Amino acid sequence: MDCDFVASGESAQDVKDKMYSHASETHAEVLKSMSDQDKENINAKMDSLLA
Ligand SMILES: [Zn+2]
Repeated sequence: MDCDFVASGESAQDVKDKMYSHASETHAEVLKSMSDQDKENINAKMDSLLA
């Protein structure tokens, strides 16, 4: 998604929560258009980036 939002937080989970709340506020249409598989892929990617 075309966005330069950078989340920061105290833990990987914290960062993920912030990214999701940003996405649901700012990119609601994008989120809606994503399949569960897409979200799972993004989630896995974030986990590997934040690990
Ligand atoms: Zn954004």
